[in-house]
Amino acid sequence: MKPRKFLALLLGASMLTPLPAGALAPPDLRQEAIANVDSHTKMVQVMVDTVFSFGEPGFQEFRTSDYLTSILAKNGFKITKGVAGMPTAWTATWGEGGPLIAIGSDEDDLRGVSQIPGDPKVEPIVPGAPGHGEGHNSGVPLVITAALAIKAVMEKHHLKGRLMLWPGIAEELLGSKAYYVRDGLFKGVDACIFAHVDSNFATQYGAANNGMISVEYTFHGKTAHAAADPWDGHSALDAVELMDVAMNFRREHLPLSQRTHYVITNGGGQPNIVPGVASVWYYFRDYTFDRVKELFDIGNRTADAAAMATDTTVEHKTLGFAAPNYGNKPIAELLQSNIEAVGMPKWTADDQAFAKLVQETQQRKVEPLRDKVTPLRAPRGEDAVQTGGGSDDIGDIMWTVPTVTLRYPANIPNMIGHNVTSAMAMATPVAHKGTVAGAKALALTVLDLMTSPDELTKARAFFDNDQQKYDHYKPLLTAGDAPAIHVNDDYMRTYRPLMEPYYYDASKYPSYLDQLGIKYPSPPTGPLRKITPPKTFGDTASGG
Ligand SMILES: [Zn+2]
Repeated sequence: MKPRKFLALLLGASMLTPLPAGALAPPDLRQEAIANVDSHTKMVQVMVDTVFSFGEPGFQEFRTSDYLTSILAKNGFKITKGVAGMPTAWTATWGEGGPLIAIGSDEDDLRGVSQIPGDPKVEPIVPGAPGHGEGHNSGVPLVITAALAIKAVMEKHHLKGRLMLWPGIAEELLGSKAYYVRDGLFKGVDACIFAHVDSNFATQYGAANNGMISVEYTFHGKTAHAAADPWDGHSALDAVELMDVAMNFRREHLPLSQRTHYVITNGGGQPNIVPGVASVWYYFRDYTFDRVKELFDIGNRTADAAAMATDTTVEHKTLGFAAPNYGNKPIAELLQSNIEAVGMPKWTADDQAFAKLVQETQQRKVEPLRDKVTPLRAPRGEDAVQTGGGSDDIGDIMWTVPTVTLRYPANIPNMIGHNVTSAMAMATPVAHKGTVAGAKALALTVLDLMTSPDELTKARAFFDNDQQKYDHYKPLLTAGDAPAIHVNDDYMRTYRPLMEPYYYDASKYPSYLDQLGIKYPSPPTGPLRKITPPKTFGDTASGG
């Protein structure tokens, strides 16, 4: 019996695509890794719930990073903090000799989407505060769980090899990974696996996701009394509005694959002062490096034109960048075989009841938590019409070392992205079970890579040949660009003290739902909020 088949039977999972036996870690090592992950299920729940309760947005992941790195430090990993010029960024390394495998996931959340978990109604923990409306609270806990399992197996069997854990800081701002690459964080890395929350258990290879550049335009005019002598003023806000109108007309004549959107971050102070300074923040997205550059150039010309029309001046600052994604085929095939070996979590009637309650309450398509893993997704054809979509700065790492994204089933299907609905399940058993399943697939794949040099050779060959035939890494960061670590600091100065009373205390409560008095899967019955803070900031989400 082939080892993989043996393992699949052990796990009670279905076998779809057996790989050659020689390409895999020995079955006993794989079983140990699975058992190790299973022994950490309580720890997974505590980590997922704790990070959910910290709810920190991009570049403000201070508590989250301290908490997660302290767990890794306690378990023998060497921690380096403040990497690539970002105070909240870190790496955790362990091992000796052999291949160097990087594993990572995002940590940050979204402005204004605070949500009580286990509640199917829109109900913030703290109104206006940030919240895990994308489920990033489960990612690094998954990676840590897999790392502990891999480390235990490698120690027991005296395997050579090194692990590097890294966090996606400010992913919703596309804010960190291009800087990791620029600073050489991935030098010497043989392969990378990135984990991202989903309602599916899946991976894919080839081109995916749009590239993106995030740019803030600031116009400088001249203030004047808006009623007494408006002719002495030059309105920076007029320039912002003209730029936005021009971009919205231009949109009709841009490729279907592009996505352009903006928020006005400074529209002036009060109506009787002609605004002397105003700012607008744009995301420009398209599916190749060259098209992102073209779109960025259009934005810059439009800003110049708006400045000319209003006798103002304009400067722009790059706040983030994401390369288009490109997944490595050999690693995706290996990961897919492990996703299939692990199979979907065993959802209970309570889990299904909660999913249905959320979908019905939020008027989303009603569909049970999925019971089958997703088949390996091939890349879109080159002739396919590209119709846009989101971005992830994992792209920058994908163009630096052979990399794939693991999507793990820790959320309810058919929720709205960057929205409170996507936070409702993220500190419930649905999130905990999906994170455990994802950690198993990750641990197995890393062990396969550690013990099968052929797999790494194949991955490197695909990266050097197939991927480079498609395109080359062309980041739009200039030498003067630096991580936008100032973003969200004012916001968190207001909200952090209001959120602290709701941090999860795992020493007192078995789960965050228990702490909040919620009897899963039933909706909360009483009021949960202890304080009602003033609403200082808008509740617009940003990023991703
Ligand atoms: Zn994300």
